[in-house]
Amino acid sequence: MKRVYVIGGGAAGFFCAINLAKKNPSYKITILEKTTKLLSKVLISGGGRCNVTNQCFEISDLIKNYPRGSKELRSVFSKFAPQDTIDWFEQRNVKLHAEVDKRMFPVSNNSQTIIDCFLDEAKKYGVAIQTKADVREIKNQDGKIVLSIIVNDTNAKDLIADAVVVTTGGFNQEKAYGFLQATGHTIVKPLPSLFTFNIPNNDITQLMGLSVPNAKVKVVSTNYMFEGPLLITHWGFSGPAVLKLSAYAAEYFHQKSYESQINVNWLNKEYEEIKHAVEQLQKQQYKSLPKNTNVFVLPKRLWEHLLIKADLNNDKPWSEITKKSINKLVEVLFADAYTMRGKTTFKEEFVTCGGIELKEIDFKTMQSKKMTGLYFAGEVINIDGITGGFNFQAAWSTAWLAANSI
Ligand SMILES: Cc1cc2nc3c(=O)[nH]c(=O)nc-3n(C[C@H](O)[C@H](O)[C@H](O)COP(=O)(O)OP(=O)(O)OC[C@H]3O[C@@H](n4cnc5c(N)ncnc54)[C@H](O)[C@@H]3O)c2cc1C
Repeated sequence: MKRVYVIGGGAAGFFCAINLAKKNPSYKITILEKTTKLLSKVLISGGGRCNVTNQCFEISDLIKNYPRGSKELRSVFSKFAPQDTIDWFEQRNVKLHAEVDKRMFPVSNNSQTIIDCFLDEAKKYGVAIQTKADVREIKNQDGKIVLSIIVNDTNAKDLIADAVVVTTGGFNQEKAYGFLQATGHTIVKPLPSLFTFNIPNNDITQLMGLSVPNAKVKVVSTNYMFEGPLLITHWGFSGPAVLKLSAYAAEYFHQKSYESQINVNWLNKEYEEIKHAVEQLQKQQYKSLPKNTNVFVLPKRLWEHLLIKADLNNDKPWSEITKKSINKLVEVLFADAYTMRGKTTFKEEFVTCGGIELKEIDFKTMQSKKMTGLYFAGEVINIDGITGGFNFQAAWSTAWLAANSI
C-alpha cells in the first residue's frame, strides 16, 4: 500500500487524487487543504459557470495559448488533451457544451456541477480530505517524503508519504513559495498575467462598450503584438487582443511598471492597403461627408471619433479634404497611439505567471528532478494560459499525468 498526499484542494489537486484513487484502490490518498474551502477557484471560475476547457483539438494550436510552458505541454497534451477532458466529465454524467468562441462549460452553466462531480468521485474512490491542514515543510528522509503541517492553525504534525503531489496553485508573493524553494527548487518570480490596459485621461474611454472584431494591438518599439477583438472600456482597452498581449508581454510590462506606448491598428490591415482604401473612398464618395461614409464598418461613434482625431469631422465633403488630412486619417486607422498607464485585473481572473522552474520537472511524469517522489501539477508550475479554459486544461492534464505516473 502506498501513502500519497496531495497538497492543495483545488482543481489540479482533486483531479489528481480522483484519477489516482480510481486506478489504485489500495493506495491511501489524502488531499491536504490549508483553508476551510475546497475548490474555491472552480466555484468562481468563468463567472460562476466554470470554463472547463476549450474546443481546440489540434495540439499544435492548443499550445499556442500558453505564453509560458507551451513546449513542455506538447508532450503532456499528447497524453491528456481537451477531448479527454470532455470524455472524462461525460463518463461522469457531466456534459460540456461549447460556445461560438470554443470555450466549453458544463451544460448546467453552473460551476457547482463540476464541484459536485469532484466531491462525489472523491467519496466514491475513498479519497480522504483534510481541511485546515497547512503544509509548511517538505523533506526527503530515508526514501520517504516527510510533510510538516499545521492543523487547525495550532497543532504541528509530521506526515510520512511515498509520494507527494504539490497542487498549491499560484501565489502573488514570491515569499509564499518559500516552503517549495526550501526543497531545492527554483521559483520564477510571480507576476500578473491576463490584465486589461488603463488609458487614463483619454477621450477614447467615452466610447466604453464599443468593440471592433479584428484589431491589432502593438507595444511600440517591441515585437509584441496581437490581433483579435478589441473592447473599449471606461478605463481603457480590454478584449482578447489585449489579454493575449498582457500575457505574452507580462514580464516586459512589469519591467516598465505598466507604462507603455501602445498602437492600435483598428482595421488590422497593412498601411498601404488602408491608404489605398481611404484614397478610393475619397474618389468614389467625393460629394459625401466623411462621417456618412463608414465603409470600414467600424462602430459609428468610433468612426466619428477617429475622424475627429484626424481633424476630419467637419462639414466638408471628401472632395475638399486635403492630402495632409487623408494621411493623418490613414495614420490614425493604422497606428492610433495611446499611453498605457497601469493595468486592471480581468474580471477578477487573477492568473500568475511564474512558479516552479520548468527545467526542474520531468514532463514525462510530472516528477521533480530535484526530489524523488515529489510531483507537481497545476498553476504552481511556471505555466499559464490565456483566457478561454486553457488554465484549467493545463491543470487537468498535468494532474492526470502525475496521477498516472504515480
Ligand atoms: C476569478 C477566476 C476565474 C477563473 N476562471 C477560469 C476559467 O473559467 N477557466 C480557466 O481555465 N481558468 C480560470 N481561472 C484560472 C484557474 O482557476 C486556475 O488556473 C486553476 O484554479 C489552477 O488550479 P490549481 O489546482 O493549480 O490551483 P488552485 O485552484 O488555486 O488550488 C490550490 C489550492 O491549494 C491550496 N494551498 C495552497 N498552499 C497550500 C499549502 N501550503 N497547504 C495546503 N493547501 C495549500 C489553496 O488554498 C488552494 O485551495 C480563473 C481564475 C480566477 C481567479
